[in-house]
Amino acid sequence: MIKLEGVSKTYGAGPTAVHALKNIDLEVPKGAIHGVIGLSGAGKSTLIRCVNLLERPTEGNVIVDGQDLTRQDSEALRQSRHQLGMIFQHFNLLASRTVFDNVALPLELMGVSKGEIRERVEPLLDLTGLTDKATQYPAQLSGGQKQRVAIARALASRPKVLLCDEATSALDPQTTASILELLQDINRKLGLTILLITHEMEVVKSICHRVGLISDGELVEEADVGDFFTAP
Ligand code: ADP
Ligand code: ADP
Repeated sequence: MIKLEGVSKTYGAGPTAVHALKNIDLEVPKGAIHGVIGLSGAGKSTLIRCVNLLERPTEGNVIVDGQDLTRQDSEALRQSRHQLGMIFQHFNLLASRTVFDNVALPLELMGVSKGEIRERVEPLLDLTGLTDKATQYPAQLSGGQKQRVAIARALASRPKVLLCDEATSALDPQTTASILELLQDINRKLGLTILLITHEMEVVKSICHRVGLISDGELVEEADVGDFFTAP
């Protein structure tokens, strides 16, 4: 579902250039929950942002569902991005919009009709346990509830892939567990492929099928999660 071939990303040029990613090959099959773990500054955020071309790789190809995104023009890329939902550490909700209207936003931007927006948003509020919060504003919600809104919004365009950028790093352990459970639910019920980056071992251990370790811009190790954590 996601394939990175020889992806490199360099910020800047000359003696101050930062080689954030170095020749990354990565394959995430359909339906998998794949984790990439690494220390701060290892290149995790750059890696996940290269998958939806929020960052343009300096070299290499990014193939999602058979389409090479690095070769698409901006209109094609805009369409392809509907296949890729993304959630963030700090949720990135709009303060002036209710829960319902935050989830509806991507659909409004796609020109979906009001009636269809309602038909699509309501089941997502149900799925994420937010039905009774629909008319509240982000400031009235807990961190976990905000992340649920962000997840519902990410699913609104019916993506095939969910990208999670440190999605639980701002949450306490109990809330983290409930968000991870929701992600697992979404993976099982909707068949979504999930790529997540994190610096937290527990996140990877609890939901990932396979995990890669990134260090100084290189994917240095990759294994099924059971093998990854078993001492030799
Ligand atoms: P992580 O998410 O693992 O903390 P990042 O991908 O954010 O790592 O950063 C990898 C490296 O790239 C770091 O050295 C960081 O300072 C550098 N970097 C990230 N974004 C930029 C940018 N926009 N401009 C310059 N350097 C950057
Ligand atoms: P149903 O079988 O009634 O379609 P599902 O369990 O497949 O229900 O999905 C629950 C809700 O999630 C549906 O109302 C559907 O609109 C929505 N949905 C289904 N697939 C996706 C997807 N890939 N991304 C986002 N939302 C989806």
